[in-house]
Amino acid sequence: MIQVAINGYGTIGKRVADAVRQQPDMEVLGVAKTRPNFEAETAIDKGFPLYAAIEERADQFAEAGLEIAGPVEDLIDAADIVVDATPSGIGAENKELYEEYDTPALYQGGEDAALVDTSFNARSNYEDATGADHVRVVSCNTTGLSRVIAPLREEYGVEKVRATLVRRGGDPGQTNRGPINDILPNPVTIPSHHGPDVETIFDDLDIDTLGMKVPATLMHMHSLNVTLEEEVDAAEVRELFADESRLFLIPERMDIDGSGKLKEYAMDAGRPRADIWENCIWEESISTVGSDLYLFQGIHQESDVVPENIDAIRAVLGEADAGESIETTNETLGIGL
Ligand code: NAD
Repeated sequence: MIQVAINGYGTIGKRVADAVRQQPDMEVLGVAKTRPNFEAETAIDKGFPLYAAIEERADQFAEAGLEIAGPVEDLIDAADIVVDATPSGIGAENKELYEEYDTPALYQGGEDAALVDTSFNARSNYEDATGADHVRVVSCNTTGLSRVIAPLREEYGVEKVRATLVRRGGDPGQTNRGPINDILPNPVTIPSHHGPDVETIFDDLDIDTLGMKVPATLMHMHSLNVTLEEEVDAAEVRELFADESRLFLIPERMDIDGSGKLKEYAMDAGRPRADIWENCIWEESISTVGSDLYLFQGIHQESDVVPENIDAIRAVLGEADAGESIETTNETLGIGL
C-alpha cells in the first residue's frame, strides 16, 4: 500500500484525500492543516489522522477539542509520497521539508513550473514523472486544455491553439474573491500566462491564451480554436473525443445550457460534492471550418485535477503505467458521465 501524506487540507487537499482512500493500492497516512476549522473537524470525523502543519499553532487544535497525531514532520517522514495542496507559493516554501525527509512530492498548479522536475498531465506526459522527486500537477485550466490537445496532436497534428478562458471569480467557499458585478480582462495582458503553462506539458506547442474573470463560482468556461494540420470533419472529432475517458461530450438531448445545469446534473448523479472530474464539452459546439476546430468546454476547477493527482502518485513511484493507472482511477472514482 502506498502511504500518502496530504499537506494542506482545503479545496484540493480534501478531495485528493477522499480519492486516495478509494484507491485499492493507496492509504491516507494523514492530512496536515495549519488551523482548526470546519475542514479540520471533517478530517477527524472521516478518520484521517490530523497533523499540525505549523508547530506554534498546534495548541489551537487542542483548544478546539481536536486531537492532533503529531507535527507535519512526522507525517512527511513516514510517508511514501506527499501531496502538497497548500495555497499558491506555500508549496515552494515546503520543498525544503520534503527534501529533508527524502519524500517525493506532488505540488499543485499555483506553484511555478521552475520549482519541479516536471509538470504533469496523465493523458499527455505520464511517463515524465516516473522517478522524479518534485512534480507539479498543472492547474485546472491547463489540465482541461491538455486533455483536449493531446488527442488532437496525436490524430491530426496541431498547428496553433487559441483559447479564451472565462474564469470563475472564486470557488464557492471563497467569500473574499470577485468580481461581484463586473467582467474583467484578467490578466489584462495578452497572451495570458495559461498558454506558457500548457507548454510545460507539450514543449513544441504553439498556443496563445486570453483570460477573463466573471461573477461566477461554479466552473470555468473555455472558448477554444485549434488550427489542425489537416482539414477534419466535426463528426470525426466528436468520435475522437468520445473515446477519451476524461472528456464528457454533453449531448444536445440533455438540454444542459451552462455550468448551472452541469452542476445540477452532477448533484442528481450523486457525485461527491457535485464534482465533475471530466472536461465538459458541448457536443454541438464542436465545429470545423477547414482545418480550424472550435468548441466550448466547462471545467470544474475544484475537481478536474483530483484524478490527475492520483495518477501522478502512481507515475512518480513507478507503480503502474499510464493506461493502468488512469483505468483504476476512473473506475474507483466513477469517472465517465
Ligand atoms: P485552499 O485555500 O482551499 O486550501 C489550502 C489549504 O492549505 C487550507 O486548508 C490552508 O489552511 C492550508 N495551508 C495554508 N498554509 C499551509 C501550510 N504552510 N502548511 C499546510 N497547510 C497550509 O486552496 P486550494 O484551492 O485547495 O489550492 C491549493 C493549490 O491548488 C494551489 O496551488 C492552487 O493554485 C491549486 N489549485 C486550485 C484550484 C481551485 O480551483 N481551487 C484548482 C486547481 C489547482
